[in-house]
Amino acid sequence: MMQDFLPPRRLLLGPGPSLVHSRVLHAMATPLLGHLDPVFLGVMNDIQTLLRRTFATANRFTIAISGTGSAGMEAAVVNLVEPGDAVVVGINGVFGTRLATLVERCGGKAIRVEAPWGRIIEPEAIASALQRSGPVKAVAVVHAETSTGAWQPIEPVGRLCRDYNALLIVDTVTSLGGAPVEVDRWGIDACYSATQKCLSCPPGLAPFTLSDRALAAIKNRRTACQSWYLDMALVANYWAEQTRAYHHTAPISMLYALREGLRLVEEEGLAARYARHRLNSDALIAGLMALGFDPLPLPGQRLPMLSCVSLPPSIDDAAVRARLLETYGIEIGGGLGPLKGKVWRIGLMGESSTEANVLTLLNALEELGIRYGWVSAPGVALQAAARVYSGGTGS
Ligand SMILES: *Cc1c(COP(=O)(O)O)cnc(C)c1O
Repeated sequence: MMQDFLPPRRLLLGPGPSLVHSRVLHAMATPLLGHLDPVFLGVMNDIQTLLRRTFATANRFTIAISGTGSAGMEAAVVNLVEPGDAVVVGINGVFGTRLATLVERCGGKAIRVEAPWGRIIEPEAIASALQRSGPVKAVAVVHAETSTGAWQPIEPVGRLCRDYNALLIVDTVTSLGGAPVEVDRWGIDACYSATQKCLSCPPGLAPFTLSDRALAAIKNRRTACQSWYLDMALVANYWAEQTRAYHHTAPISMLYALREGLRLVEEEGLAARYARHRLNSDALIAGLMALGFDPLPLPGQRLPMLSCVSLPPSIDDAAVRARLLETYGIEIGGGLGPLKGKVWRIGLMGESSTEANVLTLLNALEELGIRYGWVSAPGVALQAAARVYSGGTGS
Protein backbone atom coordinates (compact mmCIF):
# COMPACT_ATOMS: atom_id res chain seq x y z
CA MET A 1 0.00 0.00 0.00
CA MET A 2 1.23 3.45 -0.78
CA GLN A 3 1.42 5.77 2.16
CA ASP A 4 -0.68 8.87 2.72
CA PHE A 5 0.68 11.87 0.95
CA LEU A 6 1.19 14.85 3.22
CA PRO A 7 2.84 17.75 1.42
CA PRO A 8 5.63 19.46 3.38
CA ARG A 9 5.03 23.04 4.52
CA ARG A 10 6.16 25.46 1.88
CA LEU A 11 6.31 29.21 1.60
CA LEU A 12 5.47 29.70 -2.09
CA LEU A 13 7.40 32.77 -3.26
CA GLY A 14 8.02 31.69 -6.83
CA PRO A 15 6.37 32.75 -10.11
CA GLY A 16 3.21 30.79 -9.21
CA PRO A 17 1.45 28.97 -7.72
CA SER A 18 1.06 31.29 -4.76
CA LEU A 19 -0.20 30.48 -1.28
CA VAL A 20 -3.90 29.64 -1.06
CA HIS A 21 -6.18 30.97 1.69
CA SER A 22 -7.74 28.28 3.88
CA ARG A 23 -11.21 29.54 2.91
CA VAL A 24 -10.43 28.64 -0.71
CA LEU A 25 -9.22 25.16 0.28
CA HIS A 26 -12.37 24.64 2.35
CA ALA A 27 -14.56 25.73 -0.56
CA MET A 28 -12.92 23.03 -2.70
CA ALA A 29 -13.74 20.37 -0.14
CA THR A 30 -17.49 21.10 -0.16
CA PRO A 31 -19.90 18.64 -1.86
CA LEU A 32 -20.26 18.59 -5.62
CA LEU A 33 -23.31 19.83 -7.46
CA GLY A 34 -24.25 18.85 -10.99
CA HIS A 35 -22.85 21.29 -13.52
CA LEU A 36 -26.37 22.16 -14.69
CA ASP A 37 -27.90 22.28 -11.19
CA PRO A 38 -29.67 25.64 -10.82
CA VAL A 39 -27.73 26.25 -7.59
CA PHE A 40 -24.44 25.70 -9.41
CA LEU A 41 -25.55 28.03 -12.21
CA GLY A 42 -25.86 30.64 -9.46
CA VAL A 43 -22.21 30.02 -8.55
CA MET A 44 -21.27 30.65 -12.18
CA ASN A 45 -23.25 33.89 -12.22
CA ASP A 46 -21.43 35.02 -9.06
CA ILE A 47 -18.06 34.27 -10.68
CA GLN A 48 -18.99 36.27 -13.76
CA THR A 49 -20.06 39.24 -11.63
CA LEU A 50 -16.88 39.13 -9.53
CA LEU A 51 -14.61 38.64 -12.56
CA ARG A 52 -16.13 41.67 -14.33
CA ARG A 53 -15.21 43.79 -11.30
CA THR A 54 -11.67 42.41 -11.16
CA PHE A 55 -11.15 42.93 -14.91
CA ALA A 56 -12.89 46.38 -14.69
CA THR A 57 -15.16 45.51 -17.57
CA ALA A 58 -18.83 45.48 -18.47
CA ASN A 59 -18.22 42.69 -21.01
CA ARG A 60 -21.08 40.23 -20.93
CA PHE A 61 -18.69 37.54 -22.16
CA THR A 62 -16.63 37.16 -18.99
CA ILE A 63 -16.04 33.55 -17.92
CA ALA A 64 -13.53 31.12 -16.46
CA ILE A 65 -12.06 28.76 -19.04
CA SER A 66 -11.41 25.17 -17.94
CA GLY A 67 -7.63 25.00 -18.04
CA THR A 68 -4.62 26.94 -16.78
CA GLY A 69 -3.44 30.33 -18.02
CA SER A 70 -2.06 28.80 -21.19
CA ALA A 71 -5.58 27.62 -22.07
CA GLY A 72 -6.67 31.25 -21.77
CA MET A 73 -3.83 32.31 -24.07
CA GLU A 74 -4.68 29.59 -26.56
CA ALA A 75 -8.40 30.48 -26.42
CA ALA A 76 -7.67 34.13 -27.21
CA VAL A 77 -5.50 33.31 -30.19
CA VAL A 78 -7.37 30.32 -31.61
CA ASN A 79 -10.69 32.20 -31.61
CA LEU A 80 -9.44 35.48 -33.06
CA VAL A 81 -6.67 34.47 -35.46
CA GLU A 82 -7.51 32.78 -38.74
CA PRO A 83 -5.14 31.50 -41.42
CA GLY A 84 -3.50 34.46 -43.15
CA ASP A 85 -4.24 36.99 -40.39
CA ALA A 86 -1.36 39.27 -39.43
CA VAL A 87 -0.82 39.78 -35.70
CA VAL A 88 1.69 42.14 -34.12
CA VAL A 89 3.21 40.37 -31.10
CA GLY A 90 5.32 42.05 -28.44
CA ILE A 91 8.19 39.75 -27.47
CA ASN A 92 10.39 40.48 -24.45
CA GLY A 93 10.31 37.16 -22.66
CA VAL A 94 8.92 33.62 -22.57
CA PHE A 95 5.25 34.44 -22.76
CA GLY A 96 5.40 36.83 -25.69
CA THR A 97 7.40 34.16 -27.50
CA ARG A 98 4.66 31.64 -26.73
CA LEU A 99 1.99 34.01 -28.10
CA ALA A 100 3.87 34.24 -31.40
CA THR A 101 4.10 30.45 -31.57
CA LEU A 102 0.34 30.16 -31.07
CA VAL A 103 -0.38 32.76 -33.76
CA GLU A 104 1.70 30.73 -36.21
CA ARG A 105 0.05 27.46 -35.20
CA CYS A 106 -3.26 29.07 -36.14
CA GLY A 107 -1.89 29.87 -39.59
CA GLY A 108 -1.46 33.53 -38.75
CA LYS A 109 1.54 35.71 -39.55
CA ALA A 110 3.31 36.90 -36.41
CA ILE A 111 4.88 40.33 -36.83
CA ARG A 112 7.43 40.28 -34.01
CA VAL A 113 8.22 43.47 -32.13
CA GLU A 114 11.11 42.54 -29.90
CA ALA A 115 12.74 44.16 -26.90
CA PRO A 116 15.60 42.89 -24.73
CA TRP A 117 14.43 40.63 -21.90
CA GLY A 118 13.71 42.82 -18.89
CA ARG A 119 12.65 45.83 -20.96
CA ILE A 120 9.11 46.77 -21.94
CA ILE A 121 7.90 46.92 -25.54
CA GLU A 122 7.95 50.63 -26.35
CA PRO A 123 4.54 51.70 -27.74
CA GLU A 124 6.43 53.57 -30.50
CA ALA A 125 7.87 50.25 -31.68
CA ILE A 126 4.35 48.84 -31.95
CA ALA A 127 3.24 52.02 -33.75
CA SER A 128 5.95 51.68 -36.37
CA ALA A 129 5.18 47.98 -36.86
CA LEU A 130 1.53 48.87 -37.46
CA GLN A 131 2.59 51.63 -39.84
CA ARG A 132 4.89 49.37 -41.84
CA SER A 133 2.61 46.34 -42.12
CA GLY A 134 -0.60 46.18 -44.07
CA PRO A 135 -3.90 45.50 -42.30
CA VAL A 136 -3.37 43.80 -38.96
CA LYS A 137 -6.01 41.64 -37.26
CA ALA A 138 -4.71 42.03 -33.73
CA VAL A 139 -1.93 43.18 -31.44
CA ALA A 140 -0.93 40.81 -28.62
CA VAL A 141 1.11 41.86 -25.58
CA VAL A 142 1.90 40.54 -22.12
CA HIS A 143 0.98 42.92 -19.28
CA ALA A 144 3.15 41.21 -16.65
CA GLU A 145 6.05 39.28 -18.23
CA THR A 146 6.69 36.71 -15.52
CA SER A 147 9.96 35.56 -17.06
CA THR A 148 11.59 39.01 -16.63
CA GLY A 149 9.49 41.06 -14.18
CA ALA A 150 8.75 43.78 -16.78
CA TRP A 151 5.49 45.74 -16.40
CA GLN A 152 4.10 46.59 -19.83
CA PRO A 153 2.00 49.78 -20.26
CA ILE A 154 -1.22 48.80 -22.02
CA GLU A 155 -3.20 52.02 -22.42
CA PRO A 156 -1.06 53.49 -25.25
CA VAL A 157 -1.16 50.15 -27.06
CA GLY A 158 -4.95 50.23 -26.78
CA ARG A 159 -5.06 53.65 -28.43
CA LEU A 160 -2.91 52.39 -31.31
CA CYS A 161 -5.23 49.43 -31.79
CA ARG A 162 -8.17 51.78 -32.15
CA ASP A 163 -6.27 53.94 -34.67
CA TYR A 164 -5.36 50.92 -36.77
CA ASN A 165 -8.61 49.02 -36.26
CA ALA A 166 -6.82 46.04 -34.70
CA LEU A 167 -8.05 43.89 -31.84
CA LEU A 168 -6.01 44.02 -28.63
CA ILE A 169 -5.12 40.73 -26.89
CA VAL A 170 -3.55 41.09 -23.44
CA ASP A 171 -2.04 38.46 -21.14
CA THR A 172 -2.84 39.41 -17.53
CA VAL A 173 -2.02 35.99 -16.10
CA THR A 174 0.33 37.38 -13.47
CA SER A 175 -1.13 40.87 -13.00
CA LEU A 176 -4.85 40.25 -12.41
CA GLY A 177 -5.65 40.82 -8.74
CA GLY A 178 -2.22 42.28 -7.97
CA ALA A 179 -2.07 45.40 -10.17
CA PRO A 180 -4.74 47.41 -12.00
CA VAL A 181 -6.18 45.70 -15.08
CA GLU A 182 -8.61 48.06 -16.84
CA VAL A 183 -10.09 46.06 -19.69
CA ASP A 184 -12.68 48.63 -20.81
CA ARG A 185 -10.69 51.80 -20.18
CA TRP A 186 -7.59 50.45 -21.96
CA GLY A 187 -9.62 49.09 -24.88
CA ILE A 188 -8.65 45.43 -24.45
CA ASP A 189 -10.65 43.06 -26.66
CA ALA A 190 -9.47 39.70 -25.34
CA CYS A 191 -7.98 39.37 -21.88
CA TYR A 192 -7.01 36.18 -20.07
CA SER A 193 -5.54 35.33 -16.70
CA ALA A 194 -5.00 32.36 -14.38
CA THR A 195 -6.09 31.42 -10.90
CA GLN A 196 -2.77 30.50 -9.28
CA LYS A 197 -0.96 33.82 -9.38
CA CYS A 198 -2.42 36.97 -7.75
CA LEU A 199 -5.88 35.42 -7.34
CA SER A 200 -4.29 32.84 -4.99
CA CYS A 201 -6.33 29.79 -5.98
CA PRO A 202 -4.91 26.48 -7.17
CA PRO A 203 -4.07 26.31 -10.90
CA GLY A 204 -6.82 25.06 -13.20
CA LEU A 205 -8.94 27.93 -14.48
CA ALA A 206 -8.29 30.85 -16.80
CA PRO A 207 -10.44 33.96 -16.22
CA PHE A 208 -11.29 35.27 -19.67
CA THR A 209 -13.19 38.20 -21.14
CA LEU A 210 -14.10 39.27 -24.68
CA SER A 211 -15.29 42.68 -25.90
CA ASP A 212 -18.18 43.07 -28.33
CA ARG A 213 -15.63 43.78 -31.08
CA ALA A 214 -13.95 40.45 -30.34
CA LEU A 215 -17.31 38.65 -30.32
CA ALA A 216 -18.14 40.21 -33.70
CA ALA A 217 -14.79 39.03 -35.09
CA ILE A 218 -15.56 35.50 -33.88
CA LYS A 219 -19.02 35.64 -35.41
CA ASN A 220 -17.58 36.79 -38.75
CA ARG A 221 -14.90 34.09 -38.97
CA ARG A 222 -14.34 32.70 -42.46
CA THR A 223 -13.24 29.33 -41.01
CA ALA A 224 -14.31 27.21 -38.05
CA CYS A 225 -12.23 27.62 -34.89
CA GLN A 226 -9.44 24.98 -34.98
CA SER A 227 -10.12 24.02 -31.37
CA TRP A 228 -13.38 22.42 -30.38
CA TYR A 229 -12.73 22.49 -26.61
CA LEU A 230 -11.76 26.16 -26.63
CA ASP A 231 -14.27 27.33 -29.27
CA MET A 232 -15.76 30.30 -27.43
CA ALA A 233 -18.84 30.35 -29.66
CA LEU A 234 -19.69 26.89 -28.24
CA VAL A 235 -18.52 27.51 -24.68
CA ALA A 236 -20.67 30.66 -24.61
CA ASN A 237 -23.79 28.51 -24.73
CA TYR A 238 -22.92 27.05 -21.34
CA TRP A 239 -22.14 30.37 -19.63
CA ALA A 240 -24.99 32.42 -21.16
CA GLU A 241 -28.05 32.45 -18.94
CA GLN A 242 -30.47 32.06 -21.84
CA THR A 243 -28.96 28.83 -23.18
CA ARG A 244 -27.05 26.90 -20.48
CA ALA A 245 -26.34 23.99 -22.80
CA TYR A 246 -23.83 21.27 -21.98
CA HIS A 247 -20.49 21.66 -23.73
CA HIS A 248 -18.01 20.01 -21.35
CA THR A 249 -18.35 19.20 -17.66
CA ALA A 250 -17.35 22.26 -15.66
CA PRO A 251 -14.57 21.72 -13.09
CA ILE A 252 -17.01 22.22 -10.21
CA SER A 253 -14.57 22.30 -7.27
CA MET A 254 -12.21 24.66 -9.08
CA LEU A 255 -15.10 27.04 -9.70
CA TYR A 256 -15.99 26.91 -5.99
CA ALA A 257 -12.39 27.84 -5.29
CA LEU A 258 -12.41 30.74 -7.71
CA ARG A 259 -15.66 32.11 -6.31
CA GLU A 260 -14.13 32.14 -2.82
CA GLY A 261 -10.83 33.57 -4.06
CA LEU A 262 -12.66 36.40 -5.80
CA ARG A 263 -14.74 37.03 -2.68
CA LEU A 264 -11.47 37.48 -0.76
CA VAL A 265 -10.30 39.96 -3.42
CA GLU A 266 -13.54 41.86 -3.04
CA GLU A 267 -13.37 41.90 0.77
CA GLU A 268 -9.89 43.39 0.69
CA GLY A 269 -10.77 45.85 -2.08
CA LEU A 270 -8.82 46.20 -5.31
CA ALA A 271 -7.08 49.47 -4.37
CA ALA A 272 -5.90 48.09 -1.01
CA ARG A 273 -4.77 44.89 -2.68
CA TYR A 274 -2.71 46.74 -5.30
CA ALA A 275 -1.15 48.94 -2.58
CA ARG A 276 -0.23 45.85 -0.53
CA HIS A 277 1.54 44.28 -3.53
CA ARG A 278 3.39 47.55 -4.22
CA LEU A 279 4.58 48.05 -0.64
CA ASN A 280 5.79 44.48 -0.14
CA SER A 281 7.67 44.44 -3.43
CA ASP A 282 9.29 47.81 -2.65
CA ALA A 283 10.50 46.39 0.66
CA LEU A 284 11.72 43.18 -0.97
CA ILE A 285 13.64 45.05 -3.67
CA ALA A 286 15.22 47.37 -1.10
CA GLY A 287 16.38 44.36 0.89
CA LEU A 288 17.67 42.46 -2.14
CA MET A 289 19.56 45.49 -3.44
CA ALA A 290 21.24 45.82 -0.05
CA LEU A 291 22.49 42.25 -0.57
CA GLY A 292 23.88 43.06 -4.02
CA PHE A 293 21.04 41.81 -6.23
CA ASP A 294 20.20 44.01 -9.18
CA PRO A 295 16.61 44.30 -10.50
CA LEU A 296 16.45 43.40 -14.19
CA PRO A 297 13.73 45.87 -15.30
CA LEU A 298 14.23 49.62 -15.05
CA PRO A 299 12.75 51.60 -12.14
CA GLY A 300 9.09 52.35 -12.84
CA GLN A 301 8.83 49.22 -15.02
CA ARG A 302 9.10 46.63 -12.24
CA LEU A 303 6.14 44.42 -11.49
CA PRO A 304 4.74 44.65 -7.96
CA MET A 305 4.03 40.89 -7.76
CA LEU A 306 7.13 39.45 -9.37
CA SER A 307 10.67 40.69 -8.84
CA CYS A 308 13.33 39.50 -11.23
CA VAL A 309 16.85 40.21 -9.96
CA SER A 310 20.32 39.44 -11.29
CA LEU A 311 22.48 37.43 -8.94
CA PRO A 312 25.74 38.78 -7.59
CA PRO A 313 28.55 36.67 -9.15
CA SER A 314 29.45 35.14 -5.77
CA ILE A 315 26.09 33.35 -5.45
CA ASP A 316 25.63 29.75 -6.55
CA ASP A 317 22.07 29.80 -7.95
CA ALA A 318 21.14 26.13 -7.64
CA ALA A 319 22.86 25.54 -4.28
CA VAL A 320 21.26 28.52 -2.57
CA ARG A 321 17.78 27.82 -3.93
CA ALA A 322 18.07 24.19 -2.85
CA ARG A 323 19.04 25.26 0.68
CA LEU A 324 16.22 27.79 0.82
CA LEU A 325 13.82 24.95 0.06
CA GLU A 326 15.39 22.37 2.36
CA THR A 327 16.17 24.53 5.37
CA TYR A 328 13.40 27.09 5.24
CA GLY A 329 10.76 25.49 3.02
CA ILE A 330 10.88 28.59 0.82
CA GLU A 331 10.34 28.23 -2.92
CA ILE A 332 11.58 30.96 -5.26
CA GLY A 333 11.99 30.75 -9.03
CA GLY A 334 15.14 30.55 -11.14
CA GLY A 335 15.65 32.14 -14.54
CA LEU A 336 14.09 30.82 -17.75
CA GLY A 337 15.76 30.40 -21.15
CA PRO A 338 18.64 32.85 -21.61
CA LEU A 339 18.29 34.00 -17.98
CA LYS A 340 18.78 30.51 -16.51
CA GLY A 341 21.37 30.64 -13.72
CA LYS A 342 21.55 34.44 -13.96
CA VAL A 343 18.43 35.67 -12.19
CA TRP A 344 15.93 34.79 -9.50
CA ARG A 345 12.25 35.38 -9.87
CA ILE A 346 10.59 36.06 -6.55
CA GLY A 347 6.82 36.16 -6.49
CA LEU A 348 4.81 38.04 -3.90
CA MET A 349 1.43 37.16 -5.32
CA GLY A 350 -1.94 37.30 -3.61
CA GLU A 351 -1.76 35.55 -0.22
CA SER A 352 2.02 35.29 -0.57
CA SER A 353 2.44 39.07 -0.56
CA THR A 354 2.88 39.85 3.15
CA GLU A 355 5.38 41.77 5.23
CA ALA A 356 6.11 38.63 7.24
CA ASN A 357 7.01 36.69 4.09
CA VAL A 358 9.31 39.45 2.82
CA LEU A 359 11.15 39.57 6.14
CA THR A 360 11.30 35.76 6.37
CA LEU A 361 12.90 35.50 2.93
CA LEU A 362 15.39 38.31 3.53
CA ASN A 363 16.32 36.80 6.89
CA ALA A 364 16.90 33.40 5.27
CA LEU A 365 19.02 34.97 2.53
CA GLU A 366 21.13 36.83 5.08
CA GLU A 367 21.73 33.61 6.99
CA LEU A 368 22.71 31.75 3.81
CA GLY A 369 24.90 34.71 2.86
CA ILE A 370 26.73 34.47 6.16
CA ARG A 371 27.13 30.72 5.71
CA TYR A 372 28.44 30.99 2.13
CA GLY A 373 30.34 34.22 2.62
CA TRP A 374 28.49 36.65 0.37
CA VAL A 375 27.05 38.73 3.21
CA SER A 376 29.69 40.78 5.00
CA ALA A 377 27.38 43.06 6.99
CA PRO A 378 24.51 41.00 8.40
CA GLY A 379 21.30 42.95 8.92
CA VAL A 380 21.57 45.25 5.90
CA ALA A 381 18.67 43.64 4.02
CA LEU A 382 16.34 43.64 7.00
CA GLN A 383 17.23 47.24 7.75
CA ALA A 384 16.55 48.32 4.18
CA ALA A 385 13.18 46.54 4.17
CA ALA A 386 12.25 47.89 7.58
CA ARG A 387 12.94 51.42 6.33
CA VAL A 388 10.41 50.92 3.53
CA TYR A 389 7.82 49.57 5.96
CA SER A 390 8.32 52.47 8.34
CA GLY A 391 7.65 54.92 5.52
CA GLY A 392 11.07 55.41 4.01
CA THR A 393 11.73 55.32 0.29
CA GLY A 394 11.15 52.32 -1.90
CA SER A 395 12.39 51.65 -5.42
C1 LIG B 1 2.12 31.56 -15.82
C2 LIG B 1 1.91 32.36 -17.07
C3 LIG B 1 1.25 31.84 -18.20
C4 LIG B 1 0.85 30.40 -18.31
O1 LIG B 1 -0.06 30.04 -17.38
P1 LIG B 1 -0.19 28.49 -16.94
O2 LIG B 1 -1.21 28.61 -15.84
O3 LIG B 1 1.16 28.07 -16.47
O4 LIG B 1 -0.66 27.74 -18.09
C5 LIG B 1 1.02 32.68 -19.27
N1 LIG B 1 1.43 33.95 -19.26
C6 LIG B 1 2.09 34.48 -18.21
C7 LIG B 1 2.52 35.90 -18.25
C8 LIG B 1 2.35 33.70 -17.09
O5 LIG B 1 3.01 34.21 -16.06
